[in-house]
Amino acid sequence: MKKTEMKETNEATIDKILKAQRDYFATHETKSVDFRLNQLKKFKSAIEKNEKKITDALHKDLHKSYEEAYLTEVSIVLQELKNHIKNVKKWSKPHKVSTPLHLLPSRGSLHHEPLGVSLIIAPWNYPFQLLMNPLVGAISAGCCAVLKPSEFTPNTAQVMQEIIAEIFDDNYIALVQGTQETGEALLKKRWDLIFFTGSTAVGKIVMKAAAEHLTPVVLELGGKSPCIVDETANLEIAARRIAWGKTINAGQTCIAPDYLLAHESIKEELIVKITESFEDMFGDEPQESKFYPRIIHEKAFDRLKGLMQDGTVKSGGETDREEKFIAPTVLDNVKKSDPVMQQEIFGPILPVLSYSKMEEALAFINQNEKPLALYYFGKEKNAKEVLTKTTSGGVCINDTLMHITNHHLPFGGVGGSGMGQYHGKESFKTFSNQRAVVKTPTWIDVSFKYAPFKHFKWIRKFV
Ligand code: NAD
Repeated sequence: MKKTEMKETNEATIDKILKAQRDYFATHETKSVDFRLNQLKKFKSAIEKNEKKITDALHKDLHKSYEEAYLTEVSIVLQELKNHIKNVKKWSKPHKVSTPLHLLPSRGSLHHEPLGVSLIIAPWNYPFQLLMNPLVGAISAGCCAVLKPSEFTPNTAQVMQEIIAEIFDDNYIALVQGTQETGEALLKKRWDLIFFTGSTAVGKIVMKAAAEHLTPVVLELGGKSPCIVDETANLEIAARRIAWGKTINAGQTCIAPDYLLAHESIKEELIVKITESFEDMFGDEPQESKFYPRIIHEKAFDRLKGLMQDGTVKSGGETDREEKFIAPTVLDNVKKSDPVMQQEIFGPILPVLSYSKMEEALAFINQNEKPLALYYFGKEKNAKEVLTKTTSGGVCINDTLMHITNHHLPFGGVGGSGMGQYHGKESFKTFSNQRAVVKTPTWIDVSFKYAPFKHFKWIRKFV
């Protein structure tokens, strides 16, 4: 099939690609494990070959340094690919399950089969990782896929389109460019899975559209991820790890610590140490640092600037609209009713609230939507209480963000922060249908299930 080259994608083109992918999926070619393995290897080589183009594009779109772009985008996808290349054969094998007495001599097994033609929609904050990582799962499970990158990171989208077009045919994997309009056109179609990463508001639109066709959805959404620091914490380490988690991609990270709940006895010291950590990473003038990213667009810059009006600026506060620069900023004296505490911040602004008793902090967290991530700094015995009395998609004890890098752990949200999980084997499962198979021999046909239910009293004991 001819490769597509487009900016906004019209409905007729989407229909054409979708039909081609349905026809191709129906050939069963994508189901062969050798085929999947080859595609994964081809994909990995293409990323390695194009590493510079990808990291340059991320710099153009978000001012991400090569180091940050490699660590938070390219290497994550390469690790995911290595894991799938190593395990796809094992994961794809049918697994025997044990058989209850009443079913003997039948045998049960679990088979993973590809769901079919999938749609993957990504946001702009990790534009490469968040489109390419789910694709690894789609390929590994044997699905076809249509990919829709964000319109706000056009350089990265262009490089991804070139890579995908070079190694895959549109009837297997196609990337379509476009804005919300293209997103809406895609959502009108019937898919076998929609994998969406983005805002809660659009997540609801995706789920409504999917309901029309009873299409399963994975929603990787956002929200406010709290970070508790109690009086037992190692403040030096806590400050450094919080400052890092808040400034990677200038705070435009779905699992960034959104706000701090600090015990009143250590709040002041913690703020001082966080400020020092910002300086250690980006110097006195973060605007000059080659390691400090920019805000995605003016609209986001204006929203963040508005949020900085709440409370008192304890450190940072400098902004430059032309460069879409906002310095790492700590806000004190913030009220729970302030806008900065009512919406996902998604920028380098850190409001610090204090608490006197742990129950207060936990009650506040539990009043809000279930978060994507939750961070706790302090001693093990208190961590247990935090884990038992809260919920979230993921947790780090004495760290931020790092849970996302363990591919043996599933990644995803709960409640308002999303549904469904991926990474590693979980991605393979997400794009698969787990099919239950029972094989029954014909050399015997036990009569207890047939009317008139002979020996019923005896059979009752075994079912
Ligand atoms: P967004 O929801 O505005 O856009 C995401 C994608 O959806 C884009 O490709 C966009 O073009 C498309 N889109 C927008 N409107 C649409 C519509 N009506 N119909 C169909 N498609 C539509 O999100 P964003 O601003 O790009 O990203 C920021 C949000 O994403 C934050 O809330 C953040 O927390 C969240 N996020 C979550 C994760 C996660 O893994 N859970 C990761 C990154 C970002």
